[in-house]
Amino acid sequence: MYRTHSCGELRLQHKGQQVTLAGWVQRIRNFGGMTFIDLRDRYGITQLTVNDESPAAVRETAAALGREFVLQVTGAVVERSNKNPKIATGDIEIATAAIAVLNPADTPPFTIEDDSDGGEELRARFRYLDLRRAPLQQAIRLRHRMAQEVRSYLDSQQFLEIETPFLIKSTPEGARDFVVPSRMNPGEFYALPQSPQTFKQLLMVAGYDRYFQIVRCFRDEDLRADRQPEFTQIDCEMAFVEREDILQTFEGLAKHLFKSVLGMEWTTAFPRMSYADAINYYGSDKPDIRFDMRISDLTDAVKGKNFAVFDSAPYIGGICVPACADYTRKQLDELTEWVKRPQIGAKGMVYIRRTTDGIKSSIDKFYTPDHLAAIADQCRASQGDLILLLSGDKKKTQEMLGALRIEMGNRLGLRPNNVFAPLWVYDFPLLEWDDETQRFYAMHHPFTSPKPEDLPKFYAADRHAIAQVNANAYDFVLNGVEIGGGSIRIHDSNVQRRMFEVLGFSEEEANYKFGFIINAFRYGAPPHGGIAFGFDRWCALFGGQETIRDYIAFPKNNTGRDVMLDAPSKIDEVQMKELYLKSAL
Ligand code: ASP
Repeated sequence: MYRTHSCGELRLQHKGQQVTLAGWVQRIRNFGGMTFIDLRDRYGITQLTVNDESPAAVRETAAALGREFVLQVTGAVVERSNKNPKIATGDIEIATAAIAVLNPADTPPFTIEDDSDGGEELRARFRYLDLRRAPLQQAIRLRHRMAQEVRSYLDSQQFLEIETPFLIKSTPEGARDFVVPSRMNPGEFYALPQSPQTFKQLLMVAGYDRYFQIVRCFRDEDLRADRQPEFTQIDCEMAFVEREDILQTFEGLAKHLFKSVLGMEWTTAFPRMSYADAINYYGSDKPDIRFDMRISDLTDAVKGKNFAVFDSAPYIGGICVPACADYTRKQLDELTEWVKRPQIGAKGMVYIRRTTDGIKSSIDKFYTPDHLAAIADQCRASQGDLILLLSGDKKKTQEMLGALRIEMGNRLGLRPNNVFAPLWVYDFPLLEWDDETQRFYAMHHPFTSPKPEDLPKFYAADRHAIAQVNANAYDFVLNGVEIGGGSIRIHDSNVQRRMFEVLGFSEEEANYKFGFIINAFRYGAPPHGGIAFGFDRWCALFGGQETIRDYIAFPKNNTGRDVMLDAPSKIDEVQMKELYLKSAL
């Protein structure tokens, strides 16, 4: 047996026992005749001691050890005189009786400590060393726990875990596909799935009325911060359901995860909000409702007082920032610069301070104190609050106010990562019109059903009517992050054909790309719907982190590279020929 115990296991109750441990040398501290060695494995750290009374062979080996050497150590468990309450094994140490170096190690390029001295790039190149660090081990463990709990809950609800293929047909819609050349079919390509969407719907047609899969998805998108070209979804689909069944089932999943992974009991229903309210009150389709600071529409209240900026604006909105009326001129100028940055894009910002000495604003020239008080009341401002106003195009201004709201939430510490605010957002628009390409795009995906009451509009000839159609779609939002999204699907092949028509596909194109699913719907498709959750992101949120990279064992960097493998990389001429490929570079 290599080891009798792990490095995280021994306590005072083991005192006097002869044990054998195996692990890596985390640290060596040498105090003259006394050497302490911290031995680490994924379960913890145990202190080994070597001193003048240790066998000569042990002293000799100990003197030649380096960090990250792999050891097997035997010795007696001894009570420490100097206990370390910070670690679980801090009451004991091992009086080393024998050491075997199982493998020496080169000096690692960075310290394998909670706070490593290695930069991100260096740690990514040596990911297997970075993964030895406790914070990453915790992240990977949390991910494992989440996956087990997802399986256990969905299994208890009669879901079947079914795998779907990775080599599929390219149907670019949404993101770009990653493609794979086929050697056996010269000149033809597979695509890697952006999601198993069509397969899970076909499984519904096939009668597997509750399906799930923890599945890798591939999207060749321009990488934004914290996006991975391959990522994992908890992908789910159910037949014979309406929206309410889906929300209940997956609210159940979320509550199960809160309880089993975080120990948080959730006794009330998750709040719900329509897309329209989310935009109007939070300037975002994924509101962070850990804090209030809702947007007030002030358009009617502020117009007609000869302030040209407002009089000419189609929309004016404001947020009330609690207890910030004492913001200095400098702070307000700095905030104005913040909203003027190109990422936000405001032209300027107006403020109103409600203080104990009355009300003061940057628009005192145009508004009487009574006017300003009325505006402050409409924003539900108390004494000591600061109101920030932006104006312009309605949707853009709401988005800017939404961004400002999040910024103020951050500044005021209203977004602690150990507080969770789940939210369902529903009734999204079905389609988005794109002026550039002069066509509609599906806001969710082309299999999402219009709301039944909007079907007449869906068949209208006028594109403005079509633009008003709402989708039977919903998102699951946690702390301002979209964690999941899904919809009730179209199950009628005629409605599906109409969808492709609205999206500007010719009949032939639709048949070429999606014939398999349109045909399947002719053979008894049950009403169905589903949802998919971003598993990496959900793990990161539960772990209290913003970045998903730590929750993926071998992630890509933000240019889509695996710097450890150095991939992507060129392939040789022979491989190129076999695949009938020629480089255009
Ligand atoms: N397949 C969809 C997505 O990846 C989710 C769903 O509609 O179930 O966004």
